[in-house]
Amino acid sequence: GIITTARFVLYHPFAHCKTICLEFFGNNLINASKAIVDIMNTFEKDAVVFLTALEHFDEKYVLAINYRNKSKRTSIPKAVLLVDIESNNEELLLGACERVIDMVGPYNTEGIIASDGKERELFWADRKNLGAIARHTNAFKLNEDVVIPLEKLPLFADFIEKLNLQKELENDIRIIDDVERFLCDAKSAQGADFSAARIDSFIDGLRKVRALYRAYVENFDRPAGPELGGGKGETVFKLIQDGTITIQFEDDVITHFAITFHGYGELLDRFSAVVQNERKRKIIIATHMHAGDGNVHVNIPVHSNDYMMMREADETAGVIMQETVRLGGVISGEHGIGLTKLRFIDNEVLEEYRKYKLENDSDDLFNPGKLSADFPQSSIYTPSFNLLELEAFILEATDLESLSTSIAQCVRCGKCKSVCNTHYPCGTMFYNPRNKILGVGLIMEAVLYDAQTSTSLSFRNFEKLREISDHCTMCHRCQVPCPVNIDFGNITLDVRKLMVQRKKSQFKAATQFTIFFLRRRGYYVNKLLRVLVFRLGYGAQRLGYYLNRPVSKITRELLPRINGYLAGRFPRTGQKSLRERLRLKGGNCFYSFENPDLPVRKSVVYFPGCGSERMFPEISIAVIALLYNAGVRVVIPPEFICCGYPMLANGMTGQADMRSYENRVLFHRIAGTTGYMDIEHIIVSCGTCFEMLEKYEIENIFNGASIMDINEFIAREEVYGKAAAPRHPVLYHEPCHTPLRHLGYEKTFEKLFGISPVNIPNCCGEGGTLALSTPEISNTLRERKKLNLLGVTRRSKLSVLTTCPSCVQGLCKINGELSVIGRSLAVYAAERFLGHDWEKKFIQTVKKKGIERILF
Ligand code: SF4
Ligand code: SF4
Repeated sequence: GIITTARFVLYHPFAHCKTICLEFFGNNLINASKAIVDIMNTFEKDAVVFLTALEHFDEKYVLAINYRNKSKRTSIPKAVLLVDIESNNEELLLGACERVIDMVGPYNTEGIIASDGKERELFWADRKNLGAIARHTNAFKLNEDVVIPLEKLPLFADFIEKLNLQKELENDIRIIDDVERFLCDAKSAQGADFSAARIDSFIDGLRKVRALYRAYVENFDRPAGPELGGGKGETVFKLIQDGTITIQFEDDVITHFAITFHGYGELLDRFSAVVQNERKRKIIIATHMHAGDGNVHVNIPVHSNDYMMMREADETAGVIMQETVRLGGVISGEHGIGLTKLRFIDNEVLEEYRKYKLENDSDDLFNPGKLSADFPQSSIYTPSFNLLELEAFILEATDLESLSTSIAQCVRCGKCKSVCNTHYPCGTMFYNPRNKILGVGLIMEAVLYDAQTSTSLSFRNFEKLREISDHCTMCHRCQVPCPVNIDFGNITLDVRKLMVQRKKSQFKAATQFTIFFLRRRGYYVNKLLRVLVFRLGYGAQRLGYYLNRPVSKITRELLPRINGYLAGRFPRTGQKSLRERLRLKGGNCFYSFENPDLPVRKSVVYFPGCGSERMFPEISIAVIALLYNAGVRVVIPPEFICCGYPMLANGMTGQADMRSYENRVLFHRIAGTTGYMDIEHIIVSCGTCFEMLEKYEIENIFNGASIMDINEFIAREEVYGKAAAPRHPVLYHEPCHTPLRHLGYEKTFEKLFGISPVNIPNCCGEGGTLALSTPEISNTLRERKKLNLLGVTRRSKLSVLTTCPSCVQGLCKINGELSVIGRSLAVYAAERFLGHDWEKKFIQTVKKKGIERILF
């Protein structure tokens, strides 16, 4: 519809608000429904204390969200009610809260009043996590809502409970059918050996259980006879509900099977496969409601690739709609009618609507053709239930199935925004992790639409996925606050892999050249590339930066990509690597550094990685100097090895796997040769190296060794004690992939320098190869970083410490009105602990003594 006039009514907030959490225990859902009616009635006429929120969720949700009891009881609540009561009169408000708790006490209920704002938030946090209901079906659910008259809520609760019980028993019967079938097959396959008699006797037992369960389902609403455990006129359902009849599938079938076929490994394996397979297809009906107005949301999680399950869920939804109508409720709640509920609307209602439409919209402009009994549903596209079967095929054929699974659980709460390194409200919609997920969903819908409306599968929409994934640095931080555990970093990795597989990744010369460079391991080729790339290339870029500055407004319009590369000034680098300075050549050997003037405190392997060895060699020199001067024996692997992360991050998983495989072989050989050293740690000076090395299972190669950043290592070992605190506040940039995984940056700074640095949030814009692949995104992120820096200091020249070589470069590119020098924390620590001439002294000393060349 169209809103033609609107009136906003603004209320003063109440001075006091209390949240009560009511937990309902026992065997039935009715109690919570009765309590809802009682609470509503209590506040209906109250003119001082007001009921402002009344939200309900049932046992299925309690289990899905891993609900933690607020009361002291240990059993799982059957339902939970969250109640907000507000008033300007605190005393009356408190009295009303107590009254509510007393009133619902007889319903086997515990009531807890939140003590403060923080606890209130905690209570309500559960409500926000309800999206997790679809977790067990990998995200897909049928989600309909209905409105039930309040006084009929208890009946509806009973109905849902009965339906769930029926679905459970039917699922049990299906398991029994399957088990009987495979046992019969097993018997004929094995011939008449000693298991045959067991199988026959077990099948007999199964048949009895099945007959009983069938009798339960068929007699739910009939008085149970003595053969079913009744006799006093109660229905089977009531007897199950009050616990007189107990369904003991676990004992009757599962445990019985395990005991009967003890020792028959193959039969046991097949049995558990059958049970698991059927269990995951069980239909579960979960409800939560905005209880105050009887608006009930009915969710049925389904596996989108299981047609039988989808059909059953569809039929179940139909049964629920019919019951809603029978109870005098309506099937149009917040979600409206749409197409899926059309079949449950009476023709008389549709006829009335048709007349109204004719009168008020005679040209049928609004929602043309909709809600008409003869509307040809098959002619339109909607991701409606009827089309799911086809959609499941398409998703599978386009390799989008797992992507769809990984995003579908998103409940759009936006909790990931606050931790996302690339979140920038001033950027486009993709600078927001929630929107990235929505974007992926929309693209998938576009792929489905394309496939359903044309004769062949088209992959043209895939390219948009690339744009979304370009806005993520794969820091994995969004997973921490996410109620349904979504990690967009992993989704980005999957998207990039898919792009490469489908040959949809754009050719980017700079990225390809970087990967080419990183794969070169030879001493002389690296010497040449160092001069070409870091000396000449970076020098040319700096020249371009200065030339472009006065005309950047014009180049931004005419040559946006070139302008993007010239927006920030590359740092000065390209000095000789450690290997060149010490002439450590040879791919068939590795080197060990050991200070002969100190006893060996520990032995470690240092993995320098490309950033610390090739881009900013002073970092790798500082790391070895810090360890050497502390009496730590350091082993470095052969020339210029890359951990493989840059390939992985660009979707080239095959290449990344190969790199990882080769490196692991190399590490095994080093471990074999250095067994006498008792290597305790693998030291790194880069977060992505840390992340990649974690996949190598280092602890198995070096006998329990752990990966650790150099700064954390010297802080933890307290090898240098604590340096004097610097006079100025220290600014710190936490990389997207931080290597400080054990102590964290605050403790590390505290232990090394006795200070707490000022952390400047968000990404520096470098992001490994991000700055080369997408300079426009990189520059936008750098803009944000600049704003964050300006927010904490007025100085125009700054030095910011960091623990990632790539971020050193990213920070250095922030220049213009604010000029930043990015500095490695390891280099800073070397200066503080070893003196300003640490590098010269170290190279001179170590050249004379302390390097051992070890041949494989
Ligand atoms: S992985 Fe990091 S950058 Fe990507 S969406 Fe999550 S928080 Fe943001
Ligand atoms: S991905 Fe973000 S918006 Fe979606 S559920 Fe997780 S935290 Fe909420």
